[in-house]
Amino acid sequence: MKKTFLTGISLLLVAAALCCWNPCAANAATTKQQTGTARPVSIPKKKQTTTTKTQAASTKTKAKTTTAQTTAASTSGYQNVVTWGKKHGMRAAWTQKNKTLRLSNDSTTIVLNIGARHASINNIKIALCQNVKMSGGNVFVSTQDINTALEAITNPRKNAVRIVAIDPGHGGSQPGAKHSGKQEKDITLLIAKEVRTILQNKGVKVVMTRTTDRTMDLKTRPRIAEQNHADVFVSIHLNAASADANGAEVFTTTPAGAQSTTPDSGSTAATRGNKNDAANALLAYHIQRQLVQKVQFSDRGVKRKRLGVLYDTAMPAVLVEAGFISGSKDQKKLFNASQRSKIAQAIAEGILSYKKTVESVKPTPTKSNTAEKH
Ligand SMILES: [Zn+2]
Repeated sequence: MKKTFLTGISLLLVAAALCCWNPCAANAATTKQQTGTARPVSIPKKKQTTTTKTQAASTKTKAKTTTAQTTAASTSGYQNVVTWGKKHGMRAAWTQKNKTLRLSNDSTTIVLNIGARHASINNIKIALCQNVKMSGGNVFVSTQDINTALEAITNPRKNAVRIVAIDPGHGGSQPGAKHSGKQEKDITLLIAKEVRTILQNKGVKVVMTRTTDRTMDLKTRPRIAEQNHADVFVSIHLNAASADANGAEVFTTTPAGAQSTTPDSGSTAATRGNKNDAANALLAYHIQRQLVQKVQFSDRGVKRKRLGVLYDTAMPAVLVEAGFISGSKDQKKLFNASQRSKIAQAIAEGILSYKKTVESVKPTPTKSNTAEKH
């Protein structure tokens, strides 16, 4: 048992290390379908018998029961999202009958497409762990997605942000993505330093994992954040692909048991980063929203991946892919100093917006809150 567990952990570490040693091209647009985790369910064949009227009637009843059971089973682990929305004063309406559902109140609009594995929250794309389902005329979202995406972002928990860890991706002998004579490691450091200045000017203490062009182990980066008691960890990277691939995306580690947004290998078991699933999503949402609204990046969404700097990180943690170093549109933002400053400003404002949001939540005195204080 112990040996199997350790082997699983080793596989996870290797898989995580492999995906992160690749430059950020690993996160570029992919059209690959999700495979691997779905297993066909074997259904026992019924005995062939001579059919009489009574038997036929009995079979019909059985078929009905089976359908009802299947429907019930297929929504197990799911919640009726309209019922969930009502708890938050959200009205539900089809914008496209049986295809697109909109839930909204004064401050939030959530759009869900039946069959899609993503949602839109206030016009920002959020990857989900499971597809949105429809059953018996009702719309269902997995409980895991309610908790780690919808509820996490629209009804945040109280928290405090005093110290922020900024991690400029790559460095030294690891340049990351390269294009047009530019290297990812240099641009991420420039952006990170500007983010630091903006946050410091707002009275936030900042810890940098590197301030020079030096090679750093992946595991060292979150450890620096932890040793300095950082409340959030933000790793800054750039994507690379073809010239027509442009846009920003922000990764969190994948919730336990779920498949990542793009297929990954290795264990899906819970890791330390999963204890912050809700805060991870909230932080990612706030940064992505600023990048899309303030820098006009194309919205590639908040995504899930068990990245080496995220899955074992103690505090809420995200990895920002602030555009494509190879993208014809994004290069104009990344290679020009004043445009690049806008990216730094957006990341900093995203962190500050997260800080303001979690710090302004009114604590609800419940038994569990009281218990946590002990
Ligand atoms: Zn990178």
